[in-house]
Amino acid sequence: MRLLPLCTFLLLFSLTPPELHAQSAGTPAGGDEQITAIEAGMLFDGTDEEMVENVTILVRDGRIEAVGPDVDVHANAERIDLSGWTVLPGFIDMHTHLTGDPEDLGADRGAFLFRYPERPALVGVHNADVTLMAGFTTVRDVGAPGSTALALRDAIAEGWVYGPRMITAISLGTTGSHCDRTTGIRPGTADLDQRRPYVFDGPQEAEATVRRAVRDGADMIKVCATAGVLSLTDDIGPAQMTFEELEAGVATAGMLNRRVAAHAHGLEGIRNAVRAGITSIDHGSVLDDEVIQEMIERGTWLVPTMMAYEAVVEMAEAGFLPPGPAQKTFEIAPQVVESHRRAFAAGVPVAFGTDAGVFEHGRNAREFQLMVEAGLSPAEALLSATRNAADALGMSDDLGTVEAGRWADLVAVRGNPLDDISILQEMGFVMREGVVYKRDGQPVR
Ligand SMILES: [Zn+2]
Repeated sequence: MRLLPLCTFLLLFSLTPPELHAQSAGTPAGGDEQITAIEAGMLFDGTDEEMVENVTILVRDGRIEAVGPDVDVHANAERIDLSGWTVLPGFIDMHTHLTGDPEDLGADRGAFLFRYPERPALVGVHNADVTLMAGFTTVRDVGAPGSTALALRDAIAEGWVYGPRMITAISLGTTGSHCDRTTGIRPGTADLDQRRPYVFDGPQEAEATVRRAVRDGADMIKVCATAGVLSLTDDIGPAQMTFEELEAGVATAGMLNRRVAAHAHGLEGIRNAVRAGITSIDHGSVLDDEVIQEMIERGTWLVPTMMAYEAVVEMAEAGFLPPGPAQKTFEIAPQVVESHRRAFAAGVPVAFGTDAGVFEHGRNAREFQLMVEAGLSPAEALLSATRNAADALGMSDDLGTVEAGRWADLVAVRGNPLDDISILQEMGFVMREGVVYKRDGQPVR
């Protein structure tokens, strides 16, 4: 069921122009090539749970050429001394909304009436930058107004904007669901059809809507299998898509080389999505032992987004949320940590994701700490944002580990994150595809 979205990535990453702007900020060219040798004091390469000491990482034209203690370094290579640092693969966040911001989630949901529809894309320029500076070199972006995230994705790939590589979803849902952006808005208030281009009902419409999303540029598909906390009026518990709708959507997406992520809180919606062959369950608030076992057997990824719950509880307690979302928050949040704890202990496949946009962008690395508090080891938490997330994207040949052939997406922190996971929140060094964006804790411009 989990098919490689090859076409997307070939188009997105091979045929786009080089990073015109970023290159001037990065490492200098050695002849026609860019060669960089990084001396790493410690390296967590993402292939296993071990830390190795004193290795050289040779980077040529954006890719890792060699890694090890005795690497031949070309005479014209630029050297970067990270001997006092721990180097890791660039992090992957599987659940962001780069064009979204927490200020839009408050009680005044009418703000969109007074804003230009392009605004989220421009706000996203800032959010993309701070996300990259936090050490996240790839994000799976799972829902945005209009085409704003698609436009941001392309602008980053073309080098106009500093940010992580974006694997961008279009989100689909049934009428009145969490993914129906008119849910809770009074009919006649605005041009509602403009706000709901990917709403469908029934398996046949699910197929057509997936096709339309792929046509419109989606790298992957997100579906709302259940309600969400922040949509205004739908109940949090019930399923919002039938098994047949999910099955039809997943099969069509697979045929078109696209993976599908399910936003899912309640148990029935989670079960439907897992059985339909979904790639990931995002949030996964209510999990029982049976569905956890099914996820393990099928290799369904759990993307926990623990920061999202922390954020909505804070907002609800502060009286910031509208009454519906506040009530849903208090209903669902107490069940979540227990679900995730149980799933982690059982060994469910975990891919790191935060739901950044529900809280301020750039804080993503706090999720590592919450995962460790819920029972993952620091090494397991790190693997969830590196090797595992790359696997869940179907991009393991390019991402997720520090190995020859992968893109040179590297980050570094002071100290050993296996001893203290919280140090990942103080990112010191960021390289994406061989270009340095942050050094000694300072952005490189
Ligand atoms: Zn989300």
